[in-house]
Amino acid sequence: MGDVKQRKEEKMKEKEHFIPALSKVSDLTHYMLCPRLVYFSARGYEQPKRAKGKERSVIEHILLKELGFNMHKVWGSEDEGGTGENRGEEDLKRVIEDIVDGVEWIYKEELKDVEKDFLKAVKTDFVCSIETPEWLSKIKKETPLAELERYYGYEREHIMVSETLNMSGSVDKLIRTEEEIIPCLIKTGRCPEYGVWKSDRMQLAAYALLIEEEFETTVQRGFVEYIRNAEVREVHIKKRDRALALQLLKHVKRIKGGVFPEKEENAPCDGCFFLELCETKKTLLSKLFGK
Ligand code: SF4
Repeated sequence: MGDVKQRKEEKMKEKEHFIPALSKVSDLTHYMLCPRLVYFSARGYEQPKRAKGKERSVIEHILLKELGFNMHKVWGSEDEGGTGENRGEEDLKRVIEDIVDGVEWIYKEELKDVEKDFLKAVKTDFVCSIETPEWLSKIKKETPLAELERYYGYEREHIMVSETLNMSGSVDKLIRTEEEIIPCLIKTGRCPEYGVWKSDRMQLAAYALLIEEEFETTVQRGFVEYIRNAEVREVHIKKRDRALALQLLKHVKRIKGGVFPEKEENAPCDGCFFLELCETKKTLLSKLFGK
């Protein structure tokens, strides 16, 4: 009896999630990774932020992200005693260690279950691994982004909602100059040899659409900071990236409306949190439709 009630409640929960909600820019990037990730998260199944056994990589991701948000401290200004390029290695290391030092206060929720000693050890390893002479000399290099941030600053995690597009998103950095509004992404993964990854181009284009709606402007360019490799790449936002973002938005809407998508050939199933659910769903569909 209890099982029947529980199943009914689960069905109700699933139905609630079948109501198409506002899509997020992150849904579009998840779609590019695997459309089924969108399906499961639309039904309320969230991947845990503190993935078991992956604490070290989660902490490293947080540390890199926070470094990205504090690059203005690394790049410095004349008022603060010189720009990044003129800074000595020791001075730079001190700035980076200061940034790393305070992460547990900013990421309280994500790090609340991590043991203090473990966090300290990961932080120490992280600082040692990243502060190589090569990384330090690359990170302090003057770039168009460093110049823009020095003069205009940026807004962190600016949230945008568009009912016209039926989409929302929170862009890592938003720079506003007299002439333009520029979105920037901080990426903690590896950097491509040239340009930026296709999904990063699409993500910038999706933010451009939201910015254009909110600020009644046209977005021409954006930046991607591949912080692990100390690389900053400028991106001209092309029509084809805008078209791709709009196309993905339609696919995501259909999935949120209840369509169970096909599995991508290169879906990252190894270690995927939804692997079991995905298999169960596939077996169920095979039984129903003989697929
Ligand atoms: S198990 Fe594979 S197909 Fe299923 S959601 Fe995860 S990545 Fe996608």
